[in-house]
Amino acid sequence: MTELPKMTLRFSRELKIFLNENHDNCTSCGNHFQNNELTHLGYKADNSFIYACNSCRHNVAETVVRYGYSKRSYEIPPNEAYLWRYLDFSKFVSMLFKKALYFTKTSLFKDPFEGAIGIFDNKKSYDRSMLFALLVAHMTAPINGREALPPSKEITDEALAILDRIDKNTLSADDEKLVAKAQALSQQMEDVRPLRREYTFVNCWHENPYESDAMWMLYSKDISNAISIRTTYQRLYLALDKDPDISIGRINYIDFNKSFSGTNSTQWYKRFSFAHEKEVRAVFLNPNYKEQPGIEFPVDLDILIDKIYVSPSADNWFVDLVKDITSKYGLDKEILHSDLAKKPLY
Ligand SMILES: [Zn+2]
Repeated sequence: MTELPKMTLRFSRELKIFLNENHDNCTSCGNHFQNNELTHLGYKADNSFIYACNSCRHNVAETVVRYGYSKRSYEIPPNEAYLWRYLDFSKFVSMLFKKALYFTKTSLFKDPFEGAIGIFDNKKSYDRSMLFALLVAHMTAPINGREALPPSKEITDEALAILDRIDKNTLSADDEKLVAKAQALSQQMEDVRPLRREYTFVNCWHENPYESDAMWMLYSKDISNAISIRTTYQRLYLALDKDPDISIGRINYIDFNKSFSGTNSTQWYKRFSFAHEKEVRAVFLNPNYKEQPGIEFPVDLDILIDKIYVSPSADNWFVDLVKDITSKYGLDKEILHSDLAKKPLY
């Protein structure tokens, strides 16, 4: 086995962007990474970036991080996918004035399941699966000079057998030590889990090739004075300056009676009853901001805004007002009266 290249922590913003944009594939051979596969992020001899699979690691001259690949919990929409934000006129003007997108803290959203793992009635089953995962983690961890072990079938079978011995009250003394460690960690995680809602900040969009009548009704307090901004996934990503600390993706709609959201990915799951929102969200997590109700991220509005639509129930004078204000803020954008306002031909 050849020696691994030296490890540094030269983690620049550009390298983070490179990692985000090449998250799933080896940049040397193009192979798609498998879950838990060892990956190597760093620099080639010519100082260009590389994110390599284990077979291509000889191309890495300087490693910044090595880690086990895990698939993202969310899908990224295609670059050209249309995203809409329906908002009141006052919020629209505030956006023009501040040249920023407002990210709201998830604990302030109306949906109480925002940031939830699942439904409370299923707590026992969640705790059991968490205990299983932590037992496996302890049994494979690199401790006492031993290298990290892969989670083999023998190890996962043994973890299941331990759970069985807990139920039957037949744990050995060694089992008990291991279970106590795993349970203590599980309890610590349970204690901090709800805090994630306090430092997860989200900016929501609706993905749709067309305008949505339902969204006009839902997301404007006064529909006759409402606006919808149309952007695309790529415009949103570029307008936020490719910020590598912001993730943009589609919400997964699931049945919480049957499944759980991931422990570290609750922000990407909602109940099926919200599926009509077809939500794409930009997410920022950082405990340093937990005292704030929200964060404004500066955006280049000229990049962000593709077109501006004015509510179907707005009068013509209001459409003119939107045009006037938008141009006063120096934006040269097409402003359309909603397609839904067009007269039918019978
Ligand atoms: Zn490769």
